[in-house]
Order: sequence, then structure tokens, then C-alpha cells
Amino acid sequence: MFVADAMLKKLARWLRLLGVEVLYPPSIDDDDIIEFTKKSNKILLTMDSELCRRARKQGRSVFLVPRKSTDEQLALLIKRFKLDVSDAPSRVLCPLCNGTLKEVGKKEVKGKVPAELLQKHDVFWKCSGCKKVFWEGSHWERINRKVERIKEMTR
Ligand SMILES: [Zn+2]
Repeated sequence: MFVADAMLKKLARWLRLLGVEVLYPPSIDDDDIIEFTKKSNKILLTMDSELCRRARKQGRSVFLVPRKSTDEQLALLIKRFKLDVSDAPSRVLCPLCNGTLKEVGKKEVKGKVPAELLQKHDVFWKCSGCKKVFWEGSHWERINRKVERIKEMTR
């Protein structure tokens, strides 16, 4: 759906947690980002008005993200692009790399996560891209609260 520039790492991570695909171009050069947006046929997100202007001039879809809190930025994007976040927080996209998460059992993560986690949790998620393992730990509570707050803002 989106391509985010290097300044929007945090926003990208949260969009993925909301279940929205966000790619990072491998380069931070403006021309490369615009080219990457063209090739991937996605919408460029940036806070850089100069990059926004240049991308627009070249006919790219681009959205200038206002300098606001992440919560406000997310609420704005949800409304502007009518994003479906009803299933959020998402267990589908890796917040770190946009890879696909797969539900895995204890056996598959044994040795990869601390032993105490294996006792506490039955279900884990493994990223097909960066191979990182996720679980619904205490951070998940915080994620849930933030997602609820954002959903509230879009009502
Ligand atoms: Zn990943």
C-alpha cells in the first residue's frame, strides 16, 4: 500500500501493526525513493515537502505526512485512505521488515526465545523475512491500548 521514507520508521512500524503494508526503499536518495515508489506502484509517505513536490511533479502518488504525534498521523492516514483496521493489532505483518508472520508452536521456537517465555506462552509468530519471533508479551498490552486509542480517534 505505502512506501515510507527514512524519517517515518516509527510510523511504518505502527502501520504494519495495524495490518497495512509499508515498504522501505533500500536507498535514502530522493530520486531513488521516487523511482522505488513508481516501480512498486504504491503511495509515498513523507514529511519532506520538497520530496513530496518532486514526486508529485513526476506523477507519483504521494502523501505529505504532517508533523504531528504518531497517533495523530495514524488516525489521519486511516481516515484519508479508508484503511480497514478492524482486525488490528495485526498478527500478519512483521512490524520490523514488512515480512509475513506465521503462527508457530513452542517446538519451533525452542532455543530461540528465553525458556520462561515457553512456559508462559503457547503461541508465537515467526517472520518469514527477518526470522524474528514475536509473542503476546507485556508489550502487546501497550500495543493494544495504543491501537484502541487510534481507533477511537477515527470514529
Ligand atoms: Zn521481519
